[in-house]
Amino acid sequence: MTKPMLIGGEWTLDGLSEQIPVLNPATEETIDHVPRAGRVAAEKAVSAAQSAYPLWRDTPAPERASLLHQAAQKTREHMDELARLLTQEEGKPLPENEEELEWTINTFHYYAELGRHDRGLVLPPGDPDQFNFVLKVPYGVVGCIVPWNYPLLLMAWKVAPALAAGNTVVIKPSELAPLSVLRMAEIAFDHLPPGVVNVITGYGPEAGEPLVTHPLVRVIAFTGSLATGQHITSLAAPQMKKLHLELGGKDPMVIGPDIDLDLAVRGLAYAGLINAGQVCTSTERVYVPRERYGAFSEELAEFVSGLRLGDGLQPGVDVGPMMRDNFRQKVVGQIESATKAGAKLLTGGVRPEGIDHGFFLRPAVLIDVDHSMAIMREETFGPVLPLMPYKDFDQAIKLANDSPYGLGASLMSNDPRLVKRFFEQVEAGTIWINDPLTDNYAGPFGGMKMSGQGRELGQEGLDEFFEVKHVHWDMVGNTKNYWYPYD
Ligand code: NAD
Repeated sequence: MTKPMLIGGEWTLDGLSEQIPVLNPATEETIDHVPRAGRVAAEKAVSAAQSAYPLWRDTPAPERASLLHQAAQKTREHMDELARLLTQEEGKPLPENEEELEWTINTFHYYAELGRHDRGLVLPPGDPDQFNFVLKVPYGVVGCIVPWNYPLLLMAWKVAPALAAGNTVVIKPSELAPLSVLRMAEIAFDHLPPGVVNVITGYGPEAGEPLVTHPLVRVIAFTGSLATGQHITSLAAPQMKKLHLELGGKDPMVIGPDIDLDLAVRGLAYAGLINAGQVCTSTERVYVPRERYGAFSEELAEFVSGLRLGDGLQPGVDVGPMMRDNFRQKVVGQIESATKAGAKLLTGGVRPEGIDHGFFLRPAVLIDVDHSMAIMREETFGPVLPLMPYKDFDQAIKLANDSPYGLGASLMSNDPRLVKRFFEQVEAGTIWINDPLTDNYAGPFGGMKMSGQGRELGQEGLDEFFEVKHVHWDMVGNTKNYWYPYD
């Protein structure tokens, strides 16, 4: 069976005979198919979103809020089903997907309220008979292009604020994990006017690019790799299209000289290995005080080698599979290249014994790495913790900043002087102290440097979907002494 797409309120295969199989990465079995859509379906979806736009834009904000709260509530009623589907198509253990659902639901609740909170700003005028204000207005149709690693959450971070601001959307989920987005659209958006939310499936160059180049799509909100982000930027440039880009990372974690080693080991293992290290903000570089390097590495390797791998639907599984074999091969390649250049593998980096199917990789701990190695420079997107010693905190900050990326950065320390230096000097969109990879709906999320442009979450994440207009209104309408002719 093939799951249909949502265009203009209709569930449709749109006459498409070609399908894309969706695999379970833990079993390598095909669990379903989705249509392989291209330009024609993308154009129909944009046209449906454009037709629905005036009605949605003019829907009073309290009414839109109520509809978005309902979307959140309906998602909650199907939370278990959606969490299981996420695990089947993406591999994360069930507790991580229950968490993803909780975040997704609350993102809709949060933006339902924020969207009715303000429409702009009244300014003091230059003349008492004038009125000046800044009006926030929606753009129109927003294209939401989503990756596979957090399919619902990263969809929600775009769709909830875009709708709350009065835009309509066309969603293009990843071809690797489209099922949970389709199912959530079926469950959560069926009470919205037809065309307000549309979902098309397909490969990026075939179904995603027509959204990027379509003149009626006024904003592209994209999360994915740097390479795709750069390509989208070049495609969108001729139209000067508004882009919102959440790209890759190479996040550092600095272990403070003062912190309890056991705490740091557990914090780091979570930060680097949740979702098998396939998080944009995974810790991918670790800096440890030289005098604690040996003890810390040993304790970390012992802890990591005890983590339980398996199908994320089973209870007691800590780490699921990687998404695909080619992603696993890339990670193994980075490890091999580092060990050839002098790094030492303390544990992991191999397929687990006793598991015959699935794209599993034992989490790895690498020591004696340096910044000449790809494993410390390029995004790994897999379960590897490479550790490098530092001699003093100045050097730790310098190393943390020595990257083209600037998404997140973590410090494990209770020394307030070090904490302050860290959050002031490290170049990253999110700084975590002692609690890595935790988000707050009200706090902006996004990257500096090559990790992207714009922010999701918070007021900033709503403002991405508003244009601003300055309105200058002279309420008297008399002739001005600064008009022609000049005296
Ligand atoms: P990807 O760039 O391969 O794909 C992302 C989406 O873009 C998919 O829907 C894909 O079909 C689409 N796409 C691909 N080529 C396209 C094109 N030419 N035109 C339009 N759309 C196109 O990324 P991925 O493998 O799905 O996700 C992993 C990457 O995402 C990692 O680099 C990770 O760091 C990044 N990511 C970033 C964040 C963040 O918030 N900064 C969050 C999660 C993931």
